[in-house]
Amino acid sequence: MYDIIIVGAGPAGLTAALYAGRSNKKVLVLEAKAYGGQIVSAAKVENYPGIKSISGFDYATNLYNQVKDLGVEIKFETVLSISDDKKVVTNNNEYKSKAIIIATGSENRKLSLENEERLIGKGVSYCATCDGNFFKGKVTAVVGGGNTALEDALYLSDIASKVYLIHRRDNFRGEDKLVKELSKKENVELILNSNVVKINGEEKVESIVIKNNDENESILEINGLFIAVGQEPKNIMFKNVVDLDEKGYIISSDGVHTNTKGIYVAGDAREKNLRQLTTAVSDGSIAATTAIREMEW
Ligand code: NAP
Repeated sequence: MYDIIIVGAGPAGLTAALYAGRSNKKVLVLEAKAYGGQIVSAAKVENYPGIKSISGFDYATNLYNQVKDLGVEIKFETVLSISDDKKVVTNNNEYKSKAIIIATGSENRKLSLENEERLIGKGVSYCATCDGNFFKGKVTAVVGGGNTALEDALYLSDIASKVYLIHRRDNFRGEDKLVKELSKKENVELILNSNVVKINGEEKVESIVIKNNDENESILEINGLFIAVGQEPKNIMFKNVVDLDEKGYIISSDGVHTNTKGIYVAGDAREKNLRQLTTAVSDGSIAATTAIREMEW
C-alpha cells in the first residue's frame, strides 16, 4: 500500500514526487516511457525563473535525480486503468494507494496525413532536438506556429542547409523574440497561410505537398519533416473515474481536485489556460501538498 501514486514522470509528476517524498510519504511514480515528458524535446528553456538557460533534457535529468536521491520509487510501467478505490493497474502489476495524482501530460498531435505514421523515423519526426542531427546539410521543413515550431526551426537552422517553416496562419502563436531571431536566419524560409496536405516517399520522406489559403498546391522537396502542431491529452483510460472536457483534458474546478475524492490532477493533463514548465511544476507542488493535507494517513 502506497501513500501516493503519481502517474507520469514529467515536470508536474516529478515535482509532486519531490514534495511528497520530502514529506516522508511512501510514494510510487509510474511512467510509461521516459522521464521528463515534453520538456525533454526543448533545446533550450529560457523562461524558467531563476535559470537563465538550460536544455530541456538537462532540466528533466536534474529533477529526476533530485527525486531519485530522496528514495522515491520510480517504475517504468504503463498504467492501464485506475479505479475509485485507488487501485492502479499497469501492464505489469496492480498497486493500491491512499491517493493518486494524475500527471500524464500530453503527447504530440499528429497531422493525420496518409504516410505520416509509416515514415516516422524515415524523415518524419516530432522532436527536432532528438532527430535534428540526422539532417546535417539537408533540407528540412517544420510545421506549426507555436513556441515548439519556432524553436525547432531555430535549432535546425544551425544544422540543416535549409529550413522551411510552414504555418497555417499569417501570425505566430509563439513568442515574438523567437520570430525575430528566425527572421535573421538566412537559410530559413517562412511559408505562411499554408498547410501540409501530403507527404511523399516510399522508403523515406522525399517531398511534401503544400496547399495555401487560395487552394493553390505546390511541392517542396525535403529530407526531413518536423511536425510541431501542439499536444493532445492522453487521459482516455481514466474516463471512468475523472470527468474529461471535450478535448480530453481532466476537468478540475480548482486546478487540483478531480470529481473523485483522493484523485488529484497536475500539469498539462488538466484543463488550463497556460501549459508551461512553470505552471506544471506549480501544479505538481500544489497537488502533492493538497493530497498530504487532505488524506487520512
Ligand atoms: P501550441 O502553442 O499549441 O502551438 C501549436 C501550433 O500548431 C499552433 O500554431 C497551431 O496553429 C498549429 N496547429 C495545430 N494543429 C494544426 C494542424 N492540424 N495543422 C497545422 N497546424 C496546426 O503548441 P507548442 O508550440 O507545442 O507549445 C505548447 C506549449 O508549450 C505552449 O504553451 C508553449 O508556449 C510551450 N512551450 C514552451 C517552450 C519554452 O518555454 N521553451 C518551448 C516549447 C513550447 P494556430 O496558431 O493556427 O492554432
